[in-house]
Amino acid sequence: MTPLILHIPHASTVIPPDCRADFIIDDSTLAAHLAASTDHFTDELFDSDATDVTNVRFPISRLALDPERFESDELEPMAAVGLGVLYERGHNGQRIRAPLNAARREYYLSRWFRPHHAQLEAAVDAALVRSGYPMIIDAHSFPDAPFELDIDKTVPRPDACIGTAGIHTPAWLIDAAQTWCSSQGWTLGIDAPYAGTIVPIKHYQRDARVRSIMIEINRKRYMTVSGVAAVRTVEFHATRAFVAGFVMALRNATNGHSANQETQVADS
Ligand SMILES: [Zn+2]
Repeated sequence: MTPLILHIPHASTVIPPDCRADFIIDDSTLAAHLAASTDHFTDELFDSDATDVTNVRFPISRLALDPERFESDELEPMAAVGLGVLYERGHNGQRIRAPLNAARREYYLSRWFRPHHAQLEAAVDAALVRSGYPMIIDAHSFPDAPFELDIDKTVPRPDACIGTAGIHTPAWLIDAAQTWCSSQGWTLGIDAPYAGTIVPIKHYQRDARVRSIMIEINRKRYMTVSGVAAVRTVEFHATRAFVAGFVMALRNATNGHSANQETQVADS
């Protein structure tokens, strides 16, 4: 069975106490931002008792630090709107945090960003040694109504979307995703409304043995927000079963693609 690395970056609502003072909004406004921005319950939706699954969960909220952004604002397109690795604005454009000085920025990166990426890289490297062909599933969810600062505001949004990353997301993996979703009557966007999937920088566009695909679930399929509370809907368990089937379909698709096909290790 293909080793699975389950990356859950955005499920936490934790703002570490020593980070709270950097925010310039009151508790109720912060709670509203957490309600809107968190990929609520994705840790539960994607939880798996299948064999050879390594969970890599980011332990704090993306509002404190977003591990899916580039460490450097110069490389991160969303930094231009205040949504780099250290958000200064919320999803609606509201300023939520004062700009951080260099020392404070370094504190966040060394305390939260680099250890998380080291953990992901170690999980991938261990799986490479174990089987040669690890698959990362980058697990997210998104709101049915686009955010103010979203790049893609096309509506209606699909029930789910996948994100791809060149050599790490072969066509047969995308086909397997489409086949599963249509078999379940779910609409699927490909790199829309959200694009890309995480790959450790060390392997990015270098080692095609590292497969990666992002799965984003439309939150209307499993939850709602009541006030500032995220609430599971009656559809939650059906969606959890859908996700389990999705992951299994992708894993099954890797059978026959592990030994000798389209292996591409670029010179580096
Ligand atoms: Zn997310």
